[in-house]
Amino acid sequence: MLNIVLFGPPGAGKGTQSEKLIEKYNLTHISTGDLFRKHLSEGTELGKKAQKFMDDGFLVPDEIVIGMVDEKIKSDEDSKGFIFDGFPRTVNQAEALDSLLATKNTPILGMVALEVPFEELKKRLLERGKISGRTDDQSVEKIDNRIQVYLDETLPVSDFYRKQSKYNSIDGVGSIDEIFSKICTTIDTFN
Ligand code: ADP
Repeated sequence: MLNIVLFGPPGAGKGTQSEKLIEKYNLTHISTGDLFRKHLSEGTELGKKAQKFMDDGFLVPDEIVIGMVDEKIKSDEDSKGFIFDGFPRTVNQAEALDSLLATKNTPILGMVALEVPFEELKKRLLERGKISGRTDDQSVEKIDNRIQVYLDETLPVSDFYRKQSKYNSIDGVGSIDEIFSKICTTIDTFN
């Protein structure tokens, strides 16, 4: 199975590139942000638990996220591979993901990390806030907080995959197609 972690700070373009990748490689998209927003809009218990963390740009507690991903992986028995977008966001989540996949005998083949300068990220997120209506994209304070949370809690996840020789860095500035083509070149080396 082609299991990939698509990594990068908020606004790096993970969602945009995931959509193209799932089509090209016939993968199952697991975006924890999208899953939480779905729970929120459906008013589930899980959505209610996640809401206060998301609103302020803090991470939802690991056990909630990991349980949700576990369920999603198990619900797709016939998948050709998973693309994880916005997950894992802590080293604890990365360890849990390895354990979940070990039970299926199908490891992560590689991580693709999109690199984008912080000034560019802030610009993109504020633009997205105007169009998407996402409240966590509409205030500079909330965006700054998410970037800080990324630096403190999520960036160490790249070392986790570096130690497993699975880390691949991609320049995330440029046209969507240019970046997509660089990601595909990297993915085609995974096996
Ligand atoms: P972005 O990448 O723009 O920050 P996401 O859609 O990935 O947006 O996530 C939105 C919010 O959902 C995060 O700020 C966080 O509160 C929550 N969230 C998403 N994924 C995770 C995760 N893996 N662990 C903890 N919280 C998460």
